[in-house]
Amino acid sequence: MKLGRLIYIIPIMAVFVGCSQSPTGRRQLTLLPEDQLAKMGDQSFQQMQKQQKLSDDPALKRRIECIAERIVSSMSKNNNFSEWDVKVFDSEAVNAFATPGKNIGVYTGLINAAQSNDQIASVIGHEVGHVLASHGNERISQSLIVQGGLVAADIALDSGSPQKNQMILGALGLGAQLGILLPYSRKHESEADKIGLDLMAEAGFNPRAAVEFWEIMKNQSKSAPPEWLSTHPAPQSRIEKLRSNMKSALKTYNRNKGQFTKCPS
Ligand SMILES: [Zn+2]
Repeated sequence: MKLGRLIYIIPIMAVFVGCSQSPTGRRQLTLLPEDQLAKMGDQSFQQMQKQQKLSDDPALKRRIECIAERIVSSMSKNNNFSEWDVKVFDSEAVNAFATPGKNIGVYTGLINAAQSNDQIASVIGHEVGHVLASHGNERISQSLIVQGGLVAADIALDSGSPQKNQMILGALGLGAQLGILLPYSRKHESEADKIGLDLMAEAGFNPRAAVEFWEIMKNQSKSAPPEWLSTHPAPQSRIEKLRSNMKSALKTYNRNKGQFTKCPS
């Protein structure tokens, strides 16, 4: 892309794309069009699959797909799960992610660390929460501004070189395994927690499992810090905040539980 065109594109994008609101009503700066983000998410997801081994256990895949389908279906009635790509990675790393473009990745290490499907659902809900709230777009937009707009816009809009890919992977929260650490901010983490808690409750998973899973992560981090925590920092306040959102989530859960297919465990 020629520099001359970029000079005009950035202010125009800032005016027409820049002002948006997250699902919790927070004002946010999202400079890139969502279809561009979806493309970046898809490309990154393909890259992850080339670099990392996928599980060949069909039962495990069915189990994770079942959990993911309930979470995805709880977002809105129009959400068609067949458009989503769910992959189980064969790795001891305790990690999971979701990307724009409707992709979800869960590592066998995380499945083993969790003690129930409800706990796995809390992680998938949290990850999908980051995507629903356009956190990747916000993070890329922030780095566009920090790095001086024009040069960085070129990086974000035209993928291909390793530096460009690294920047995108980091912003989408996929960089932990590749040594690109860009932890989500506390603001993004609590927003994803809130959205995730509501999604899992809507999908008939017990929201108390979110607190249980963070307790497990907290204890594990004393010995060997789970990879997931390198991009999803876990301050003690997170558990307290989850508890403070629990009452309304439990109401939803009690209304919806029993309405869904039981996922294999
Ligand atoms: Zn997170």
